[in-house]
Parts: sequence; structure tokens; C-alpha cells
Amino acid sequence: MTERAYIGLGSNLASPADQLDQALRSLATLPATRLADVSSFYASDPLGPADQPRYVNAVAALDTDLPPIDLLDALQAIEHAQGRVRERRWGARTLDLDIILYGDRLIDEPRLRVPHYHLQARAFVLYPLADVAPAGLRLADGRFLSDLLAQCPFEGLERLEALSPQR
Ligand code: ATP
Ligand code: MG
Ligand code: MG
Repeated sequence: MTERAYIGLGSNLASPADQLDQALRSLATLPATRLADVSSFYASDPLGPADQPRYVNAVAALDTDLPPIDLLDALQAIEHAQGRVRERRWGARTLDLDIILYGDRLIDEPRLRVPHYHLQARAFVLYPLADVAPAGLRLADGRFLSDLLAQCPFEGLERLEALSPQR
């Protein structure tokens, strides 16, 4: 069955906006998947270690027949292809691709938790998600995106008009 998944993209190394553009091209060619929409690009302050560059973030909407774990495998392959190296937790990276939402599924597996466990604390996920999600979106756990946004200030975030994809 085709499901709507929302993917969080982030990069703070090696021309971050170009990394996101490349990742979006790869997402658009995933099997059994259509890239339905892309948010604006946003600059954000780093989470965790502060001695790293600012990030560029976006959220992509995918319509996919890939099961969640297959989608995660595909996202990790794209991260790997773009030179992602896992060093310290929340350290600088060329590309991070996280599954934020997958239809109305609640997933709690060792490799995959959906909705993304830290969504409510991350302006750099919530605001781009709101660009591409339907108004009134309700998460699988019952929370409304509008409530999460109201509780998460647009702090440390900057919309990058010039770099954002044409929508
Ligand atoms: P954070 O998860 O806090 O955003 P991160 O994205 O830097 O941190 P990664 O190193 O990219 O963390 O991923 C660590 C592991 O998280 C992955 O190997 C993956 O199995 C697991 N994981 C759990 N839930 C998700 C999810 N919703 N999307 C992507 N990876 C997930
Ligand atoms: Mg992440
Ligand atoms: Mg990740």
C-alpha cells in the first residue's frame, strides 16, 4: 500500500545546500517511490556539540510502497553515498536522512522509531514539516502538528529563500 512518509534532511559539511539537492535527486529515483513535495531550506543552529557549522535542513514528502525498514535502508545508502561518517553523537555530517513520519504508523523497533523520537524539540524539523504537511495533521500518537509548533519557537532557524527548491 502506498504511504505518505516525511523525511528530515540535514547537512552541515561540504556545501550543505548542495548535499540536500543531491539527496533530493536520489530520493526522487528510489524504487516504488514518488518525491511528492519539498519544504523550503532552513539554516539552523547545531544540536549537541556547538563547535560545528550551522546546518541546512528541509523535509521531503514521499509517497512510497517501500516498507519502513526498506526505506530506512535506502536512506542510509544515500547517506553513505554522500560520504556520511558516524563519529561523535550529533557531530557534523554531510547528510542525515531521518524518517519523521510514516503514514499513521507507530514503530518502535531497535533500528527504527517513528514518529521520530525528538520531533517535538526540533524547530528545524517541525517548521519544514509544516511547509509540506496538510493543515491539521495529526500524528499517529494523537498529537497535532499545530500544537507541537505552538510549543516550539522558531528559534535559531532562518528560512533560506534563495536556496529553496521552487515549489
Ligand atoms: P537523531 O536520531 O537524534 O536525529 P542522528 O540522526 O544523528 O540522531 P544517526 O547516526 O543518523 O542519528 O542514526 C542512528 C540510528 O538511528 C540509525 O542507525 C537508525 O537505525 C536509528 N533510527 C531510529 N529511528 C530512526 C528514524 N526515525 N529515522 C532514521 N533513523 C532512525
Ligand atoms: Mg537526525
Ligand atoms: Mg539520522
